[in-house]
Amino acid sequence: MPRAKKKSTESPAVSSEVSKSSPPMKVEESKSGLVAVKTAPVPMVVSPPAQSQPMSSPSVPSPSIEYDAIVLGGGPSGSSTTIFLSKAGKKALLLDKQKFPRDKTCGDGISGRSVRMLTALGVYDDFKNVEHQDMYGVTFSSPNGTVAPVSSPKSKNESPPGFVCRREVFDNVLFQNAKRLATKTIEGFVGTDLIMDGSKVVGVKGMVEGKEQTFRAKVVVGADGAGGMTSRKLNAYHNDEDHLCAGIRCYYENVGGMIDQIELHFVKEALPGYFWIFPLPNGKANVGIGMVVSDMKKKKVNLQKVMFDIIANNPTFKDRFKDAKRTTEVKSWLLPFASKRVKMSGDGYVLVGDAASLIDPFTGEGIGNALTSGRAASTAIVEALNKNDVSAASLHKYEDLLMADIEKEVKDNYKLQKMVKGEFLLNLIVGRAKKSKYVQGVISNALINPDAHSTLSDPLFVFKALFAP
Ligand SMILES: Cc1cc2nc3c(=O)[nH]c(=O)nc-3n(C[C@H](O)[C@H](O)[C@H](O)COP(=O)(O)OP(=O)(O)OC[C@H]3O[C@@H](n4cnc5c(N)ncnc54)[C@H](O)[C@@H]3O)c2cc1C
Repeated sequence: MPRAKKKSTESPAVSSEVSKSSPPMKVEESKSGLVAVKTAPVPMVVSPPAQSQPMSSPSVPSPSIEYDAIVLGGGPSGSSTTIFLSKAGKKALLLDKQKFPRDKTCGDGISGRSVRMLTALGVYDDFKNVEHQDMYGVTFSSPNGTVAPVSSPKSKNESPPGFVCRREVFDNVLFQNAKRLATKTIEGFVGTDLIMDGSKVVGVKGMVEGKEQTFRAKVVVGADGAGGMTSRKLNAYHNDEDHLCAGIRCYYENVGGMIDQIELHFVKEALPGYFWIFPLPNGKANVGIGMVVSDMKKKKVNLQKVMFDIIANNPTFKDRFKDAKRTTEVKSWLLPFASKRVKMSGDGYVLVGDAASLIDPFTGEGIGNALTSGRAASTAIVEALNKNDVSAASLHKYEDLLMADIEKEVKDNYKLQKMVKGEFLLNLIVGRAKKSKYVQGVISNALINPDAHSTLSDPLFVFKALFAP
């Protein structure tokens, strides 16, 4: 797309959280909150590899290479890739610009897909010992103020379908597992550039405590998040505002009326986005709002203003927030949706998680897909290393594996995102969800089983929802 291409060297950041050690993302924000995405030019230091020239011959690793893989970024995608690679006996170097535990702007919702992936990683039980809140369903509300709690069945023998856990806590559990298994981990390493050999990525350059360091490996994994250095250098960063969401979040305590369900509210003021309340232990909650950037710009929405307006004045929420206290500042960040496919592998590299634009276009959840991408990437990397061929053709297996897992769900949920833009339809579905056992069953099933999302996005569902008991 010409628009995306033209802007591919610009920053996507819309955040007040960018740390001093961030890559060159210039951030601007209005005094009253997030109003528009401002961008800043980023110098291209290396030429990206030619997208249509897969290497035909197997790569010959240089004898000085110490690692099978460098993983740049220790969030969910990077940590999961490191864990899977290390368990397969490969030497992984894990690098992150921050020191853990560190915060990450997020709703903190850990979905069913994430729970399944944490189990596959062998780390699920670790979360039982840290601060989190188990969740057994979703409460929806519609623009006309109908509130519909949809609960998931509770079973003593099965793990809850999802939970809420502050990212400072959640990411640290994953990161410490990855650190324990990795060959080497460096925190405080700010990746600044990729080392190229022609079209092939062969290493990473960066700064640690003011000194430049370079590392080489057979494969480089870009796990440095939305708008990170690797996606920019490898032409995978897109600025397509129809497939980017802006989100803000903060923490409150003492919010009234919370139960063991996450809350997604299609409030009139927040349309075509949604307002969320995700309960945490001890009466605390992660509260935020998200909207597709093109919609936000079209409607000239100031997300922060809208959120505070809902909390203070909306009849469904003002009483619930009357004794509540905001305990943190409001932070914002971008969510690159998986409805925009980017090139996520090439000669000597793969991109995972937000760096590969993998966030669910309806729910805004990215952790589950980030973990899933870590598994697909590590499987493909291990195979490529074992046959001594890390060419683009060989590593493309990653994209095939990942798409086989998530593509249908992404397509279904992109349809859903379009559907819920209509106020009439939202009022109808949420209204029926409040009364109809059939509608509750379909939604409840979709929370656990991603394949069931297609039922929700099927136009026939609306028809059935109207008449089902
Ligand atoms: C407002 C908001 C709400 C959200 N709510 C949810 C939710 O409730 N549930 C959900 O599942 N998802 C949610 N998401 C999406 C989710 O946060 C991301 O999809 C997820 O964090 C992706 O994981 P990742 O590992 O790819 O990237 P990240 O978690 O962003 O991790 C990237 C890592 O790379 C490091 N890094 C970055 N640049 C460099 C560099 N140059 N050198 C070295 N290290 C670097 C960073 O320090 C960081 O540790 C939300 C996102 C936003 C913005």
